[in-house]
Amino acid sequence: MFGSLYLGRLFGIQIRVSWVFLPLFAILLMSAAQSGLVSLFLLAAVLGCVLLHELGHALAAQRYGLEVQEIKFWLLGGVAQMSRIPEDPKVEGVIALAGPAVNLLLALLTLPLFLLGAAGNLSPTATHLVDVFLAVNLALGLFNLLPAFPMDGGRLLRAAFATRMNWLTATELAVRTGRWVALALALFGIFAWQGGLFLLPIIALYVWWQGTLELNAVRMRHGVHPLAALFGQAMPGAFPGGQDSPFGFPRAEPEPTRAEEVQPRREPSAPTEPGARGVARRPAAIDVGEVPRGGLTQAQIDALERFPGRLRRGGDATP
Ligand SMILES: [Zn+2]
Repeated sequence: MFGSLYLGRLFGIQIRVSWVFLPLFAILLMSAAQSGLVSLFLLAAVLGCVLLHELGHALAAQRYGLEVQEIKFWLLGGVAQMSRIPEDPKVEGVIALAGPAVNLLLALLTLPLFLLGAAGNLSPTATHLVDVFLAVNLALGLFNLLPAFPMDGGRLLRAAFATRMNWLTATELAVRTGRWVALALALFGIFAWQGGLFLLPIIALYVWWQGTLELNAVRMRHGVHPLAALFGQAMPGAFPGGQDSPFGFPRAEPEPTRAEEVQPRREPSAPTEPGARGVARRPAAIDVGEVPRGGLTQAQIDALERFPGRLRRGGDATP
């Protein structure tokens, strides 16, 4: 939305900083520089560990063949932009866990140094730096595991729900749980420590807003109007057969075939209703016409890719 500054590339992923973050970064850097070495180290540790956290998500996603475009620093930390995660509890669970796992692993690796420092075997400065590094990683790992969808813990919760129910219901439950956690975070931030945790209400707002956006995206993918719950139509498949919903909201799936040269053959028993508001009825068959000698044309390939049904061979085959 606000553009970003390109920093470099790691594992084929662009590392960027949102312009929104730069003024905050300048303020943090100046106050850290004034307070000395430990504050500068704290800032570097936070940014470095956030980057490693996001790299954890990104590399896990790449392992599942997803494309990761960029990792971006913005106001509330980092975010890895990737192609849409499939609705698979295992894939989503592993990708969500990979970020916090990096921080908890770093904390575990720091533990021996922490114990050395606690026993007085390190210099006071080294002890302090080790403590800071451990605290940063514990905080990043554990905070992100809070079950506040779309934070990592919330995604893990949805993945766990989705092993027992459909994806939409699992998302509804995870988002509802996340809103309670967000409310608790906001209240805690406002009342605890005399409002010192000013970031918590902002994070709570983000959780509420982004969780609702993602929930609506999942609802639309499953053919449910975002406001359907208000009208008692919360069940997926409430508008079957690719019809318009009662609210005139087009289903997100299946996609209508749009190629001009290629007309989907419709079932004779199910003629298209006039005025179906641009949403095609799910075609029972697809006819891409004559295949040229050199192979399928791009338009034919596109039409086949968009065809929502199973692809089978056969001239007059009935579904
Ligand atoms: Zn994360």
